[in-house]
Amino acid sequence: PPATDRKGGGFFGRILGRDTGTAPVMRRVLDDDMVEQLEDLLISADLGVDTALRVAANIAEGRYGRRVSTDEIKALLAQEVSRIMEPVARPMPLYPKRPQVVLVVGVNGSGKTTTIGKLASQFKAAGKEVVVAAGDTFRAAAVEQLQIWGDRAGVPVLTAPEGSDPASLAFDAMTKAEQDGADLLLIDTAGRLQNRQDLMAELEKIVRVIRKKDPEAPHNTLLVLDATTGQNALSQVETFQKLADVSGLVMTKLDGTAKGGVLVALADKFGLPIHAIGVGEQIDDLAPFDPEEFARALTG
Ligand code: GDP
Repeated sequence: PPATDRKGGGFFGRILGRDTGTAPVMRRVLDDDMVEQLEDLLISADLGVDTALRVAANIAEGRYGRRVSTDEIKALLAQEVSRIMEPVARPMPLYPKRPQVVLVVGVNGSGKTTTIGKLASQFKAAGKEVVVAAGDTFRAAAVEQLQIWGDRAGVPVLTAPEGSDPASLAFDAMTKAEQDGADLLLIDTAGRLQNRQDLMAELEKIVRVIRKKDPEAPHNTLLVLDATTGQNALSQVETFQKLADVSGLVMTKLDGTAKGGVLVALADKFGLPIHAIGVGEQIDDLAPFDPEEFARALTG
């Protein structure tokens, strides 16, 4: 490990003084200066300014003027992060509906197609009958990709010719899912944010049409977010909440260089459930969100 990762060094050693390799337990008085450094570290860990300030203030509360150690600060931070994350760590709720309709939204490249493939595979393994609809009918490559994922997962994928109406595909998919007695219908959607009015109209039409079959559909609207986009994820939630009734999040690409701190900001700001996290490009690389493990990984 790098030298700064020695006892008292690294992420939190930076607050308490770098040259701590020899001190068994480094302590320093908690003052404004330390709080500010903590804020800076949390911002650099992608928590965003608002959340970073609040978390730092909570850690400092009642401890001003006291001597604290790196380990104490780490433990307090892990506690604080767990407290924020625990309420949002919830798997996607399953209903006795047949089919339960899951609309999957998000910008292109966020990992929608991949996530649908992974979800289909997981639900299939859990004994559910799954049907997938390739609702991004304007991107031939997306339809092809989804077909490949469907084959891997062993579930049928409904497609329509390029450029055809996604709402009518969604309606046909509802019919097929009903006929098959499927438990779940996962509907992929377009993610072209360049023209929000078009996208909104498209999503609204999909919802309107599937409600002709089931007034309560879609039962879940999952927003897929790419962790490597950092604070952009926050504005994507705001945007998609205007376009659709987002019920939960999947955060992808947490296996890479993404710090993941943006998840804390998301939980703090929106409180939307985080159903799963993407940790790789393979079919099994979708994991439940574990707040304690996440807090430990974030605090190091
Ligand atoms: P879509 O445009 O939203 O449907 O995005 P895709 O599903 O096509 O994914 C875009 C890229 O991200 C692909 O290269 C995927 O392999 C990759 N990807 C998706 N999820 C993950 C993940 O959890 N980890 C990693 N490392 N890559 C991912």
